[in-house]
Amino acid sequence: MRFTTRIHLATSDAIQEAAQLLKAGEVVGLPTETVYGLAANAHNANAVKEIFNVKQRPAFDPLIVHVSDQHLQSPAGPLASLSLEGTIAPQVATWKNRAKIELLIARYWPGPLTLVLPKGLSIPDVVTSGQPTVGIRCPAHLAFQQVLAATKFPLAAPSANLFGRISPTRAQHVYRELGGQIQLIIDGGPCTVGVESTIIQIIDEPFTVKILRPGKIAADEIERLIGTPVTPTPGIAQTQIQKQGAVAPGMLDEHYAPTKPLILTLRPFSQMVPSMVAVPNELKGKKVGILSTGPLLDSFWNTFNPVKVIELSHQAVPQEIAQRLFLSLRELDEDQTVDWILADVPEPTSGLGLAIRDRLNRASRNKPLD
Ligand code: AMP
Ligand code: MG
Repeated sequence: MRFTTRIHLATSDAIQEAAQLLKAGEVVGLPTETVYGLAANAHNANAVKEIFNVKQRPAFDPLIVHVSDQHLQSPAGPLASLSLEGTIAPQVATWKNRAKIELLIARYWPGPLTLVLPKGLSIPDVVTSGQPTVGIRCPAHLAFQQVLAATKFPLAAPSANLFGRISPTRAQHVYRELGGQIQLIIDGGPCTVGVESTIIQIIDEPFTVKILRPGKIAADEIERLIGTPVTPTPGIAQTQIQKQGAVAPGMLDEHYAPTKPLILTLRPFSQMVPSMVAVPNELKGKKVGILSTGPLLDSFWNTFNPVKVIELSHQAVPQEIAQRLFLSLRELDEDQTVDWILADVPEPTSGLGLAIRDRLNRASRNKPLD
């Protein structure tokens, strides 16, 4: 244990203290609307290295740089302002299709959309794992914005969990995983979105928008806004993600994982006929904990005989499922009475539905029920 970790509500004193620590090159746990982040000065390579140390994150997995909403007020426009700060490359501000990017920024920032663009000179290679691009996002959480306003530099921040584990959506989750390794966690309450941002990569000519990670903001919404077809990432938007190894950052297929084995159904429980469902061999005689996106029919209780059931949403509303997904996965993982976790997947009807499937797929290491 290196530090006594303190959890502070987001008072102005705590914001100032977080800013002081960040200026001194330390890492701090901060709330965002998606999940809690482990933040460091994005301009300071040594501070950023500490994020990788604390998380035990491999150096090939790049970090998202979080930027102040003050860029949105800049008279020259946010792209010019971000390039002036050295966060993105100067040429982006003169790209032929810059108006489409500005449209995305105007619509979704502050919010859960990360743009991958050519990186500026002030971002050290350690942040982007040596890539010439940087992922940037303007977070909506007030406390995070207050810290950004106080530091005056952007903050590199991945999710504040040990590498590969379940993302934190409460300050307590950060404490349980990283307590003793960091000095301060700002408690900004439960995360309202609950799953990580949508990440899109943008290339100017020919203008290309590619989804690297599904999140709340859906591909078709983006398509409608900018009038350009959006490329989904092969494999990632599907129920089964092919074993593709760590070829693309953040697309590691073993991620967001509980320590207990997790098995997924191929469709929501609400769309399964209980009499047709056979209990898979792995679950026979095991103490099963069920994570259900909607209410679980009595007949499924009889089939699986679970020791615990968590129903994420009465009406299977994606927003509610997403908000409680990681919290509930943690609860089942930490429950001594549970051996195996069985979860159903929501219909991918919205951006969030797809994002939830994606996270569950990776958490299950791609083990579907049938
Ligand atoms: P985390 O904040 O822990 O969800 O992780 C950040 C994720 O952002 C990485 O795992 C990548 O998927 C993605 N990312 C960040 N920067 C880039 C980049 N330059 N190119 C592609 N993906 C990126
Ligand atoms: Mg993460």
